[in-house]
Amino acid sequence: MIILLMGPQGSGKGTQGDLLAKELGVPLLGTGALLRAEIATGSDLGKEIANIINAGNLVPPDLATKTIAERLKQDDAKDGALVDGYPRDEDQLAMMFNHFTPDIAIVLEINDETAVERLGGRWICPDGHVWNVNSKPTKVEGKCDHDDKELSQRIDDKEDAIRQRLAVYHKDTAPLMAGLAEKGVKVIRIDASGTIEEIQDRIKSIIK
Ligand SMILES: [Zn+2]
Repeated sequence: MIILLMGPQGSGKGTQGDLLAKELGVPLLGTGALLRAEIATGSDLGKEIANIINAGNLVPPDLATKTIAERLKQDDAKDGALVDGYPRDEDQLAMMFNHFTPDIAIVLEINDETAVERLGGRWICPDGHVWNVNSKPTKVEGKCDHDDKELSQRIDDKEDAIRQRLAVYHKDTAPLMAGLAEKGVKVIRIDASGTIEEIQDRIKSIIK
């Protein structure tokens, strides 16, 4: 059984993907991780991918699709796999159906304000300690509780950048659900507000 896990940034997709993959005993395949693995090999393909990503562009749909399709053929995916964050747009959707057809698409739904609150509150210490002004605040604003170092925000975590990515999701990814359903993929929408455990329970109750 191939399951797509979809949803905007801030929906908790990464966390839920890890938990669900363990629960089902199947590998979690993300284009990001697969592409990073290719980059790490230092191959020509890896260098090509690195150049595209470093320029701030999305990896072309054929490259992303081939990477996933190849990975699905490996032994540990023969009973199924969880595919994270793919397809992203119409081009990838069309290519996906040339290579494989998923059984289920789980869509984590979250409103933009909640996503911005979750991601936008993140502040990071140079030593990697992660805080959140909304859910995990420090005792002194802007200083790490562990080592008193100055906290900063990643450019990716600034509100404008988050809203821009959410807009891309609404424009390119959200409309794909209709195309998936048309091809017989069971689309399951999950309310992704609340705690990690609450979201996990909602997913489990539907998968079983
Ligand atoms: Zn620290």
